[in-house]
Amino acid sequence: VELSEVPDFSMFVDPVDCEANRAINAFFENAAAKNARAPRPYLGASIVGDGCARKVQFDWWCTPFLAARVRLIFDRGHAFEQLARERLNAIGFYFAAPESLKFTAFGGLVEGHADGVIIRVPPAPGWYFQTPAIWECKALNNKNFRAVVRDGLEKAFPKYFVQVQLYMHYLNKPNPALYTAINADSCECLFFTVPYHAAVAQRAIERIETIIEATRRGELLERAYDSPDDWRCKLCGHRQKCWGLAHAPPA
Ligand code: SF4
Repeated sequence: VELSEVPDFSMFVDPVDCEANRAINAFFENAAAKNARAPRPYLGASIVGDGCARKVQFDWWCTPFLAARVRLIFDRGHAFEQLARERLNAIGFYFAAPESLKFTAFGGLVEGHADGVIIRVPPAPGWYFQTPAIWECKALNNKNFRAVVRDGLEKAFPKYFVQVQLYMHYLNKPNPALYTAINADSCECLFFTVPYHAAVAQRAIERIETIIEATRRGELLERAYDSPDDWRCKLCGHRQKCWGLAHAPPA
């Protein structure tokens, strides 16, 4: 068949506004709503550093509403993490057994799971890396990846910075952690170390205490943002109940 004889099907199907697209995405949204994950029975160390303390309370106690698209972004993060671990293994990194990645604190009210604990790295000229050390991996869109490259983790994503500090603290791994940021758009990988800051970990622990105490009193902490239209609220799975909205459109 000559190429010139192949019909141009794009004339017949609008790739966005077609039945298949609408129907399958509607199934995805229904499935996301039906399979909304109940909150974990503990306060996750990964959320403690969030900019909004009220969101941390909600994440601890309430099932979030997450659009199918947002769920897929989380799943993408897990897939990238797995791929990065496999590649690190392939070049000679060794990781501790999964059982050693978990910790609990505050009598079991707080729990955390590091992505990995590195126990051996391949020899590389000019690079000295002390083990054992925490490994964390995040897949970021291009804009956020560039922000980390430009500003560093602490400034670009204080929440992730606090998370890794808590892991170093509670897993007693004060050696600088190895952080892997993956650009989910271009698949570039960025590796950098994050030193332990005892004062940051201590402030995070004090924040945990504040959140636990307020929650025990049945008190909702202050909102961190002024409007439900703030982009951070639009991405929050608790926007509807936080702002008393009748209907929260998917982020
Ligand atoms: S909707 Fe906004 S203010 Fe409310 S909990 Fe979420 S992030 Fe905080």
